[in-house]
Amino acid sequence: MSRTLQLAEQLISRPSVTPEDAGCLDLIAARLAPLGFVCERLDSGPDSFRVQNLYAKRPGAVGASGVAPKTLVFAGHTDVVPTGPLEQWSSPPFTPTHRDGRLYGRGASDMKTSIAAFVVAVEEFLAATPEPLIDLAFLLTSDEEGPSIDGTKVVVEQFKARGERLDYCIVGEPTAVERTGDMIKNGRRGTMSGKLTVLGIQGHIAYPQLARNPIHQAVPALTELAATAWDQGNAFFPPTSWQISNIHGGTGASNVIPGSVVIDFNFRFCTESTAEGLQARVKAILDSHGLEYQLDWTIGGQPFLTTPGSLVHAVQQAIADETGLQTELSTTGGTSDGRFIAQICDQVIEMGPPNASIHKIDENIVLADIAPLTNIYRRTLENLHAQALAACAAPGAA
Ligand SMILES: [Zn+2]
Repeated sequence: MSRTLQLAEQLISRPSVTPEDAGCLDLIAARLAPLGFVCERLDSGPDSFRVQNLYAKRPGAVGASGVAPKTLVFAGHTDVVPTGPLEQWSSPPFTPTHRDGRLYGRGASDMKTSIAAFVVAVEEFLAATPEPLIDLAFLLTSDEEGPSIDGTKVVVEQFKARGERLDYCIVGEPTAVERTGDMIKNGRRGTMSGKLTVLGIQGHIAYPQLARNPIHQAVPALTELAATAWDQGNAFFPPTSWQISNIHGGTGASNVIPGSVVIDFNFRFCTESTAEGLQARVKAILDSHGLEYQLDWTIGGQPFLTTPGSLVHAVQQAIADETGLQTELSTTGGTSDGRFIAQICDQVIEMGPPNASIHKIDENIVLADIAPLTNIYRRTLENLHAQALAACAAPGAA
């Protein structure tokens, strides 16, 4: 049995439904410590929802140029989503099971096999290159699938406070479509929600001159918001979109003008717009219609984009050498912890196995996808080390 498969099965056997870690981080730390990693626990949150976080870092060597090594962090989560009805599973979700050339179990593709593959990739890389010109790190949390408040988000806040910067980040989320390597994510859209309450004056519908109808007042402003082109998008993102999700107004009676109407809306925004800029434009439109209103904002995540550079090239080359595939760069899909890490790391890539079965009953990974995943990660490390060597030979060329 391959070392990656063995470790993946050990992790799947631990029932780590958010925010439980069930010993996964201790298992990983025990593998990393003998390799020279300094393991730091940054657990956070109340006792009722204690989130476990591990930061493990191994300093690299300073090359001939004397420049400090760059830091590559592998980011991921040990938690899994709930199983759903156990009787619908073909085999118990926390008992790794082989069937039809696949490994079944909760977390098999999201994302315990990725974690195992990166640990083994680092072990293999260090065996061949004991003094790499790169710092290696792991940032793992037991809450990515849940509220994600005390996981990577708080760790990044602590890193900001202590001035810790990262250079390259690989998030092990399942990004592939058909086979490992066919798609990676180099960015994600931001998400921001607004709750708008337009205020009027309640009254009898037969005496509108004594009332003020907030629905009538809101509709022209909503029409303008819906018709607004917020930006044109760019080569990596579609245009920013604004959508209403809910409208609530009225007392239920057919003879009452309501006193208020509540509109929920959401922006999915690209890197051509900022949260602050969009908020200002919404406010300007509402003000231009003379509305009396309250507006509360919730920013779910900032957008990020990693344009092709050192990390993208290292990953693309690793995928091409291992699989022969020209990988597709994509920014589609929901959010991930990459949105937090991008605040302290210029180059963030998500790369993992196919995502067809994630969060489903009978989650699985194709066994034949596991070796390529490990090898792509190891080749990426080799490529980044080679880039650092080349930069030593020709300073400033990196
Ligand atoms: Zn995941």
